[in-house]
Amino acid sequence: MIIKIAHLYPDMLNLYGDRGNILVLKTRLKSRGIDCTVDNITMGKTFNADDYDMFFIGGGQDFEQDVLLNDLKKGKDRELSRAIESGKVVLAICGGYQMLGKYYQTYDGKKLEYLGALDFYTVGKEERMIGNYAFKTKEGIEIVGFENHSGRTYLGKGVEPLGKMIKGYGNNGEDGTEGVRYKNTFGTYSHGPILPKNPQFADFLISLAIKNKYGSQELKTLDDNFENKAKKQVMSLYIK
Ligand code: GLN
Repeated sequence: MIIKIAHLYPDMLNLYGDRGNILVLKTRLKSRGIDCTVDNITMGKTFNADDYDMFFIGGGQDFEQDVLLNDLKKGKDRELSRAIESGKVVLAICGGYQMLGKYYQTYDGKKLEYLGALDFYTVGKEERMIGNYAFKTKEGIEIVGFENHSGRTYLGKGVEPLGKMIKGYGNNGEDGTEGVRYKNTFGTYSHGPILPKNPQFADFLISLAIKNKYGSQELKTLDDNFENKAKKQVMSLYIK
């Protein structure tokens, strides 16, 4: 078995160690004897959605998001939308998450028209939403992370939130939702990075990718003692 990952803009969108998510996917696949390749899709590079099983986009500041807008519209937008619609597994963090929606209106008045692949929009305010936070998915997975964003995201009817807030701001600090999910695409404000201290969520994404490609498949259990301790520590220090 082999899972092929496309990592979009690894050099430009890598806030708070978001690249750590790729290391986790790779390690958890390899520990189970599943091969894994990671292609870096940087500015100026094109890709074909059919060549990959998983896609990852990290977070960035307003500046990088603005710089990348033109590049995104040179074909990456079409392929990403195709990946999303065809049920490939996509994980996008913060600035990368915002890029999948309709637009991002920055706090200083710039309107960045994005992919519109998912039904939501984001509006920035000067006051940022910062802190350790936690939320729970509908499968009951509790996720801890760190958020730092000016953008407030508002979901439309065509998508679901990724989770309900336990503590922190999440999408907009108003409606108790965090992130987005649509088919096998997941967007979240969780930096930190999210997967190292949330191994259940990492395995959830891996199982979806394996199911897509090879049909149903039980994942071998790994020793998550350290990961669970890290998560427990964050929970007890900052959340509950
Ligand atoms: N520029 C976006 C915001 O501030 C995203 C920031 C981020 O990726 N941390 O809302």
